Amino acid sequence: MTGIDPAPPESDTGSRLRIGVLASQGDYAAHARVLESLGAVSLEVRTPDALGELDGMVIPGGESTTISKAIERDGLRDAIRSHVEARRPILGTCAGMIVCDREHLGLVDAVARRNAFGRQIASFEAELEMSGLGPEPIRAVFIRAPWIEEHGSEVEVLASIDGRPVAVRQDQVLLCAFHPELTDDSRVHALLMAMATAARRRTANEERGSRSA
Ligand code: GLN
Repeated sequence: MTGIDPAPPESDTGSRLRIGVLASQGDYAAHARVLESLGAVSLEVRTPDALGELDGMVIPGGESTTISKAIERDGLRDAIRSHVEARRPILGTCAGMIVCDREHLGLVDAVARRNAFGRQIASFEAELEMSGLGPEPIRAVFIRAPWIEEHGSEVEVLASIDGRPVAVRQDQVLLCAFHPELTDDSRVHALLMAMATAARRRTANEERGSRSA
């Protein structure tokens, strides 16, 4: 039980949510397993075309320089930006948080600092209270994680460690410095799916509105 309803019954939205996972590099398979366990269809994204049909997307952890280069090489930058401009959600985790920041894809008004916790404490776990997930803390696994070094007023901080933001949201972009795919607590993915459901409903309403206008 996640406490968040990731997706309404199929009759409500027509079909299962389609969530893409950027599969250039990193631990995309683990995200796919969580998304499928919550009832989504998960698709590996390697080309701009693959983004067209998605309700939501994950940019996983890995190595941010490698992922950024792959995005440029595969011509994915514009497709990812269009996805967000269409107000469809993205979850970026760890390296994915860095890739979405102002100095990379520019999807949020924030700058992530790489390996911010230092190389000595490369990996650690913490119990985090994260707004949007309910009162129960989430066990968060950090691996050479970034934090948000600075951000604009549009960015909502959902969780921090020692005053350093480690989970943030700006509109449809949800970023966390930890790896939610590595524990059996699926609330972060459920939140992404709830955002995707809302986006799908909004699009359906807009289409109905423009047809009846
Ligand atoms: N330290 C990595 C980077 O800067 C991110 C690590 C991760 O995604 N687990 O790209």
